[in-house]
Amino acid sequence: MGRYFAAVDIGATKTTVSVSSRRGIAARVYQLTRKSGDRAAVPRQVDFLIGFACAQAGIDSRRIAAVGISTASPFLKSDGFLALAAPNICGGLGQKLEGIDNDWTEVPLERELSGRYPRVQIANDCVSAAVAERTFGAGRGEDDLLYVTWSTGIGGGAFVDGHLLTGKNDNALHLGHIVMNYHDDGEPLCGCGGRAHLEALVSGPAIARDYGAPPAEVFRRCRSGEPAATALIHRVAMIMATGLYNAVALLDSRVIIVGGSVSRNWDLLEPLLAEEFYHGFPALTGGVEFRRSQLDRYLGDVAGLSLVMPESWIAEWQKREPWRRAPETTVLEPDMS
Ligand SMILES: [Zn+2]
Repeated sequence: MGRYFAAVDIGATKTTVSVSSRRGIAARVYQLTRKSGDRAAVPRQVDFLIGFACAQAGIDSRRIAAVGISTASPFLKSDGFLALAAPNICGGLGQKLEGIDNDWTEVPLERELSGRYPRVQIANDCVSAAVAERTFGAGRGEDDLLYVTWSTGIGGGAFVDGHLLTGKNDNALHLGHIVMNYHDDGEPLCGCGGRAHLEALVSGPAIARDYGAPPAEVFRRCRSGEPAATALIHRVAMIMATGLYNAVALLDSRVIIVGGSVSRNWDLLEPLLAEEFYHGFPALTGGVEFRRSQLDRYLGDVAGLSLVMPESWIAEWQKREPWRRAPETTVLEPDMS
């Protein structure tokens, strides 16, 4: 009997679970991420969705050898277990974002799930994306790699000398919250409460705020030569390039892989990023390569899976790329559990 692995992607909006065998992805389900009830509601939902996906694939959930979880973060450690302390899921963290009907200060993800499956591996969505890109995507064979997502938020994951960087609470490379200017009350406020953080300056919502239109529209106007849109995109790219330069100065990366919805305008952004980035200290920037993510659309399946996939499957998956032929997603109603 073959083994199966579950890949879980927990986002602020939805949670996706797929189960895979050596041959490929057998089933995939998604549901809006639960944000009410007690603080174990999310891990219970993950457990339910794994069971549902297994039933769809026609397998007993006891055949799940490991669960890889790629999730919104940050984390904290609670009695040695990783817990989510994500402000867009936990309503008790003091920011009370819209649509969050709970007072959780943490979600005990690892504690609740680790007893139910033989192995549970959790990483934030950018760290797991870095693992996935290095295993299956634009970073194959690279030992010094920085992955950055440029989307609703900004985040990163990195390998240095072939080692994945994690940190004391697995929060390494929270690039969105590096400070890009001196503290000043006039600087834009970040979702975390800080000012002048990279994410507050260049994320999709920051672009929308500064222009007064959705990012896709700003890029469209930039392409048609509209001066205000062009100036904003140039400014945003310059700030992002500075953030990436700071990261490379710390990590000595050789390859920077950029994913996320904003980066879909790569043809516009890459030359702008490069122009600013290579103005940096040549000893640090020389030979650094920018690459667009290859797995962007598939990270929901591949990121979590790449945290737990057996070594012996990797060559076959690299060759066949079975994530490109995943089954249709089953969408479950929010109240189904
Ligand atoms: Zn911040």
